[in-house]
Amino acid sequence: MPELPEVENVARALRHHLLNRRCTGLKVRFGGILEPSPRAVRRAVVGRTLVDVERHGKYLVLTFDDPEPARVMLHLRMTGQVFVLDGYRPDKHVHATFQFDDQPVHYRDIRKFGRWTVVGPDWRERELAHVGPDMLTVRFPEWYEAVHRRKAPLKSVLLDQGVAAGLGNIYVDEALFRSGVHPLTRPADLHRDTLKTILREARAVLRLAVNHGGTTFLNFTDFHGQPGNFRSKLWVYGRTGEACRRCGEIVERLVVGGRSTHVCGTCQPLDRRRKPGNQRKRSASE
Ligand SMILES: [Zn+2]
Repeated sequence: MPELPEVENVARALRHHLLNRRCTGLKVRFGGILEPSPRAVRRAVVGRTLVDVERHGKYLVLTFDDPEPARVMLHLRMTGQVFVLDGYRPDKHVHATFQFDDQPVHYRDIRKFGRWTVVGPDWRERELAHVGPDMLTVRFPEWYEAVHRRKAPLKSVLLDQGVAAGLGNIYVDEALFRSGVHPLTRPADLHRDTLKTILREARAVLRLAVNHGGTTFLNFTDFHGQPGNFRSKLWVYGRTGEACRRCGEIVERLVVGGRSTHVCGTCQPLDRRRKPGNQRKRSASE
């Protein structure tokens, strides 16, 4: 599922390839992804110039101008992909193709959950009222206020898009490993400094993933099944049963709040509170 780094890569690619270019046509194959209607989306984009691409969490907003501004919000949900590829013949999962002069831009979505939605200039207040500040730019005091009294497992709190937007399953697991904190720990039990470390590590892992093109399949300029290459950099996510890259202990899989969670019990002891920096095993044999 695309998370912040993958969406940021789409934003950068859109800016790089399409900024200040005019959308000259829109071919729709499955109108269900266009809201409120294919006609409304066509009216918002065709004949206008793309002048801005903004990202907030996993949302993108494309602003088209000339003669007056119109905006379309994109959320990729589970399997949405945006790409350009010379000589590509759309398969049955390509639901819309935006034409920018001679440059087709395809929207492909196997699960069809993604949406392109016409929005107003007040999209931040209206469409994202339930969404917290962006994870890459939220200030620590604001984020601390939102999390430090929470008694739910840290993993669930970090996934809560109302707290801060952009972290998903992969990067929460990675951020917690890098912080040495167990996903079941309650934020209310953590020191302010530990929470500061978690925010710092979450951002670091997001930025690193952005720079590696993300973890999933979303390479805008070179769409040949070329995956983002961050996967090889993952510490715990998707590594159940493999050796921890730091200590050699076996990476375990738990389910936290219904989400698959990956943890090294040695590097991320559950009782960190009592022994900060404790790197010992928490096994029964002790
Ligand atoms: Zn470890």
